[in-house]
Amino acid sequence: MINYHLTPDQFREQGKKLIDWIADYYENIEQFPVLAQVKPGEIKASLPDSPPQKGESFDTVLRDLDEKIVRGITHWQSPNFFAYFPSNTSFPSIMGDLVSSGLGVQGMIWATSPAATELETLVVDWLAEMMDLPEKFRSSSTGGGVIQDTASTSALTAVIAARERATHLESNKKGVRQNLVAYVSSQTHSSLEKAIKMAGIGSENLRVIEVDDRFAMQPEVLKKQIMNDKSNGLIPFFVCATMGTTSSNAMDSIREIGEICRIENCWLHVDAAMSGTAMLCPEYRHFMDGVELADSFSFNPHKWMFTNFDCDVFWVADRKELIDTFSILPEYLRNKATESGEVFDYRDWHVQLGRRFRALKLWFVIRHYGVEGLQFHIRKHVQLAQQFAGWIEESEAFDLVLKPPLNLVCFRCKGDDDFNMKVMNSINESGKAFFTHTKLNGQIVLRMSIGQTHTEERHVKQTWELIQQTADELA
Ligand SMILES: *Cc1c(COP(=O)(O)O)cnc(C)c1O
Repeated sequence: MINYHLTPDQFREQGKKLIDWIADYYENIEQFPVLAQVKPGEIKASLPDSPPQKGESFDTVLRDLDEKIVRGITHWQSPNFFAYFPSNTSFPSIMGDLVSSGLGVQGMIWATSPAATELETLVVDWLAEMMDLPEKFRSSSTGGGVIQDTASTSALTAVIAARERATHLESNKKGVRQNLVAYVSSQTHSSLEKAIKMAGIGSENLRVIEVDDRFAMQPEVLKKQIMNDKSNGLIPFFVCATMGTTSSNAMDSIREIGEICRIENCWLHVDAAMSGTAMLCPEYRHFMDGVELADSFSFNPHKWMFTNFDCDVFWVADRKELIDTFSILPEYLRNKATESGEVFDYRDWHVQLGRRFRALKLWFVIRHYGVEGLQFHIRKHVQLAQQFAGWIEESEAFDLVLKPPLNLVCFRCKGDDDFNMKVMNSINESGKAFFTHTKLNGQIVLRMSIGQTHTEERHVKQTWELIQQTADELA
């Protein structure tokens, strides 16, 4: 028998079951092991090799979700998830994403759904205001923001726009042949190296600048390297400063790096993927001191701002440079609104053409929490991390590796690398909490990243007790 399309009434019934399923999931989430306890291939082997010839009932799909899929989930939304970085979400965001799926519009240009474009312009301007970004990043000025899938894509977009600025749009026409050089630090996210490769700059033309004892880029070393490259006939064109590195949450000095970029005519991109969210609170804004010197700035509401993956906001100071770089107008997309020049066509602001209506989930989140609600939750995470760091400092058996700027605590158990890894693996395998490690100065360091939507003091406390107990047992 053929399964026909669901009717709206059938969808109403099944859809409500699915909402219940999601609500139940959140209600029971603490019962699941945070890190999936499965072996490679196990989930696939539990499912049929071939697709069904005949349509199946929704109930059997839901049953398999429970029985086959959930066991293979690492629960990023668990309040005991302290690994990597948060990729948190919230019910308003889930609902906003659902509306986006329901409407199913393509927002590639203004004309294909005016509200998708205009709401996006509005919410990214709201965000710029909420974070007190410089006026030039707003759509009412020379710049503006656009929602992208990830910080990686934003980095690629910035590198390509910078390349076209440096070569006066020649690379777009003739291919990349200039001797362009870009600069990052040894702590910059790997997506920058990838962007440099993809943009045709070449990884040999990427300079990795040394960091100081707080893992921030050393501006004097950057300056020296730029001078050196110029004297060899190369053209410095792009620098990435990070506000909150992935490994240790290090904060580059945007002002000092920015001043060098101004003098040397380099595009300054600020990668604030994780820590950008903290700019909602005025007391943390000193970390972006000098941001008015930046050409582009990006952060991920899909990390710490209660908004479902994927959602990265990318702002530029001069949208004309972006549009000159990415604009293409095929005949079948010609329309009056575009020709009038009165509208934004976001497909000209980035790599892809088609785009989801992602502004909806941001709009739902911002309207639900309000500025004060978001500030409250961010401050709570920072405060929990500071509290955790305090416990580490007071303890005889642990060392605090760095004073945490915000919500990421880097620490070690007293003992060698193997011992630290053993303690971490043992906790992760218990399923009671999940955290990860990094390497700083050649040494294994444990990372406690606090930013899950539902993390409360009791979760951090329990995990701290678990860490102490495990270290004690394994010593
Ligand atoms: C997480 C992170 C990225 C990568 O983010 P994606 O959105 O997954 O591409 C880049 N830079 C920093 C500093 C990050 O924390």
